[in-house]
Order: sequence, then C-alpha cells, then structure tokens
Amino acid sequence: MTFLHDLTLEELKEEFKQKNLPAFRAKQVYEWITSYSSYDQMTNLPLVLREQLKAEYSDRPIEILEKLVSVDGTRKYLYKLYDGNVIEGALMMQNYGNTICVSTQVGCRMGCGFCASGIGGLVRNLSAGEILGQVLAVNRELGNGKERKITNIVLMGSGEPLDNYDEVTKFLRLVSSPDGINISERNISLSTCGLCDKIYKLADEGFSVNLSISLHATTDEYRKTVMPIANKYSISDIVKAVKYYFEKTGRRIIFEYTMIKEINMNFFDCKRLKEITSGYPSHVNLIPLNYVKEKGIKGCTKQEADRFCERLNSMGVSATIRKSKGSDIGGACGQLRRKYIGEAE
Ligand code: SAH
Repeated sequence: MTFLHDLTLEELKEEFKQKNLPAFRAKQVYEWITSYSSYDQMTNLPLVLREQLKAEYSDRPIEILEKLVSVDGTRKYLYKLYDGNVIEGALMMQNYGNTICVSTQVGCRMGCGFCASGIGGLVRNLSAGEILGQVLAVNRELGNGKERKITNIVLMGSGEPLDNYDEVTKFLRLVSSPDGINISERNISLSTCGLCDKIYKLADEGFSVNLSISLHATTDEYRKTVMPIANKYSISDIVKAVKYYFEKTGRRIIFEYTMIKEINMNFFDCKRLKEITSGYPSHVNLIPLNYVKEKGIKGCTKQEADRFCERLNSMGVSATIRKSKGSDIGGACGQLRRKYIGEAE
C-alpha cells in the first residue's frame, strides 16, 4: 500500500513530474494531506486528478477507531491500519500545549517483563506515513486540521522506535518539515530501551530530538531479568552512548525508571543512579508502575515513591515522579490494544 503521507514534498513533486503533472498541484495535495483531508475534501483539485491519485495512493494511512477520554482530560486512541491491524496512542493536554504519544510498531520484539506492548511479539513495523498519520489524524480531530494543535510528540507508544530506525527517522524529517506540520525536533522525545548502536547513528545524523532511556534498573544483573536487551548492551554501554548523544546534540538525557517495591528502590539503587546520571545534564523520571494484568508485577505505594525520590534529590540527582495520567482508561502502553484484541479473539 502506498500512502501519500510516506512522501516528502520533494518526493511528491518528483512523482508528479514523472506523471507530467504540474508541481503546484503537488504543493496543493501536500497541504491537503497535512490537514489529513480525504480525496473528497480536496476541492481545489480537478476530479480527474483526484480519481487518478485515488487509484494509486491511499489518502489517509490510519483511521481513528475508538477514543476514550479520561477524567483528567487525557485521551486514548485506538487506530485501525489498512491491513486490519490496530495500534494505540494517547494525547496529554497540558497548559503549555498538547502532547501526543505515538506508536512506532504493531507489537514489539523487545520483550520487557512489565510491558503490555510486547505480549505477542512484533507483528510489523509502521511506515513513516503511518506514524505521521497518528499525529495528523488527532491534530485534525482537535481543530480544522490547518491549525497546529499538537505541540509536542513523544515516541513512547507501542514499539521500539530504534528497532524501526529508517521509518522513524523519516517520520522525524516529515513531521518537523516546514512543508508539513512543522513540529520542532526540540519538542519531540524519542524513548528507547537502549539500542546503543542506533543512538550513535541518530547523533551522527544530526537529529536533535530529546532522548529518553528506559533504564528501570541500576545493575545489569537485575536489568537482564526484566529487559532482554540488557544481554546485548550493558548500563555502561548506555552511559557511553548517551554522553556521546549529549556531546553531539546538547540535549539533556532523560532516564525512565519504573519503581518496583523491594526490587529497585533501595539505598544502593540511589547511589548507583547517581553514578549513572552524573557528569552530563540528565533527569530521572520516576514512573509508578501501571499494573498489567498479564504481567503480575506490583509497583509501590505513593509514600514509598516519595521517599525514594526525596533520597535521590538529597544526593543531588535530578528526579521527579511522573504524574500518572489516564489510568482510569488504561493509560499504559499496549493495554487498550490488548483489550481490543482480547475481545476480538
Ligand atoms: N520501546 C520504547 C518506547 C515504548 S515504552 C522504550 O522502551 O522506551 C514507553 C515507556 O513506558 C518505557 O519507558 C517503558 O519502559 C514504559 N512502560 C512500559 N510498560 C509499563 C508499565 N506497565 N508501567 C509503567 N511504565 C511502563
């Protein structure tokens, strides 16, 4: 399936040139696809052209199948892909803007012990246009599609972004292009379980997105028990890679750390977190574990989380507890899709 959304404006112009279509038509089409319009809505294009395009490209790569709205305003979306697969995403509304959380793969092959997205493994990669489609579909839902309602993007939905490197980096180029929705790379955060070779590549290619590392452990020994990727890259490999990323981009490094009672929250964890995060600008996001039925791992109480955070702060580690949003509607990665698949089965 070919999506118009997989193309840059230059690529679309090139395709139009080969079909003997004028370049200004490509520009018109590009404006329509940026506002996530259907062929029927592209009213300034001749009908024959619309029919011609329709025969060759799909106008919209994804469709919103279901929307849930939390009491705190957070929205959760279930999207349908052209092949019947479903993916999910979320929208968090803050006073400084709206942040969309996008998926990069259907399923995931990283197999982290606490995460719902990986149950069932990787189904397939999303194309750049399918990732972009999530941003544009929701942006249109929030307004008329022409205004930029979405201000920030986090690649923290299902999938491992760096395991789908080519499509994800193409998405970054498309979404930050002045020809399209033009969201600055500085307002985009990419979260990875730590594919170090790809972190170097991203830095070398000149991307300046914020990098989040899903750390979750302070020893390789424990990390290996919950994150299979730890068998390939050690925590010290990650530290080397993120220092390089900081040197190249100047962006502060964020560490995601899910707190699990009696497992990764003791005094030695604090000391090791200090070592891991020292020597470069960094911040630790402490995450209260979202309970996933299939996984059975338990988090900790609010008091225990507060104590852990205070201890880190007193040692000079920049850390805050991430406010859990949308927990009443299944905010954690993969939960809505699991529910949908479970019901469909
Ligand atoms: N694969 C990427 C991005 C997707 S996961 C990564 O690993 O970073 C987005 C974040 O949610 C990661 O930090 C992940 O570890 C975290 N996460 C997954 N399941 C969770 C759960 N049940 N509770 C809390 N955080 C979870």
